[in-house]
Amino acid sequence: MSSSAVEVRWNGNGQGVFAKESFGPGQPILALTGPILSREEMLALGPELAYALQVGPDQFLDTMPPGRYANHSCDPNAGIMNDRMLIALRPIEIGEEIRFDYSTTMNEDHWTVECRCGQPACRRVVLDFHHLPPIIQNRYLQLGIVQRFIVSEVRRRSPTRRAARRALASRQVSL
Ligand SMILES: [Zn+2]
Repeated sequence: MSSSAVEVRWNGNGQGVFAKESFGPGQPILALTGPILSREEMLALGPELAYALQVGPDQFLDTMPPGRYANHSCDPNAGIMNDRMLIALRPIEIGEEIRFDYSTTMNEDHWTVECRCGQPACRRVVLDFHHLPPIIQNRYLQLGIVQRFIVSEVRRRSPTRRAARRALASRQVSL
């Protein structure tokens, strides 16, 4: 992995991040970097706040290029692990645009955007994680590509599900 593994270029709609090498599933692509802002500082960015990535309850990364230009897809080929690392979810070929699902990074009902990702499974509007169908939420949680502040919120909101999972885990251990 290096910064030369990707390039930013026009995708027909705007800037996008494109693979300059191929990636296998689970392989790191790019670390998202930039100054950390508080919520207040993030909101003061105005229209530029669309590039801010929430990484904690009151922490936002003002992402720098090339990661700044990673676009959304409702059927993504990449995801963010450990709050900042873009990883491949499936094989990515050279020249393919790298996109992740913005809903894995949003849970605060302060920003939505109309989606034109063009995927058959397009949800038309990019909404917060808790608005995703449960089957998609679970898939992303199992892949480990949901921002940690959202995972904490999900666990707080569904104590019974967590208890059920714990009970299942202890049963598996005793087998
Ligand atoms: Zn879409």
